[in-house]
Amino acid sequence: MRLILFGPPGAGKGTQAAALVDRYSIVHISTGDIFREHVGNATALGLQAKAYMDRGDLVPDRIVLDMVEDRLGKPDARDGFLLDGFPRTLAQVEALDDIVERNGHRLDGVIRLLVDEEELLSRLLQRAHEQGRADDTREVIANRLARYRSETEPAVARYRQRGILHDVDGEGDVAQVRDRVLAAAAAAEQAS
Ligand code: ADP
Repeated sequence: MRLILFGPPGAGKGTQAAALVDRYSIVHISTGDIFREHVGNATALGLQAKAYMDRGDLVPDRIVLDMVEDRLGKPDARDGFLLDGFPRTLAQVEALDDIVERNGHRLDGVIRLLVDEEELLSRLLQRAHEQGRADDTREVIANRLARYRSETEPAVARYRQRGILHDVDGEGDVAQVRDRVLAAAAAAEQAS
């Protein structure tokens, strides 16, 4: 099973990704988590990415693509994966198409979590309070939401045109959203 999970910052991608990887026994590849780990370990990649992340800007495609290509080449991603936070731009969509085709595979489905912006803002400010993630400040959150609208929504539209996009209402309690997400994945599996 090869899935992509989309959703604006604060939509609950990380939480719902856990349910999907558990259900399909696939690897969870979160580009945000990978970058945060590199920043934490002060690797060369982390140092390159940090300034962009701190502002809520996207890390340049070239840097992201090198990293993702490397990650998708690992043996644990051969039989399936869930991508979370990637692709985020049209160039990334195209690069992913190339990678998947080159390996003789195809994407089974794309799930997008829909959450109202006011709700997103309140969840992210709450998380800032609890976890203190560096990019969860009001200004940076506003920039991340703006980047999602301007860069990532056009990427999502590509998958809608291909007929593999499944929209899921991301509001409500975690278990409810999880049931909807699993139902969407089951529908994607059937259709593919
Ligand atoms: P969120 O969806 O909450 O904004 P993520 O954890 O997915 O956060 O990503 C955090 C940051 O990492 C992003 O704001 C961006 O700077 C960087 N990043 C993650 N994935 C990508 C990507 N595919 N392309 C460009 N930048 C990325």
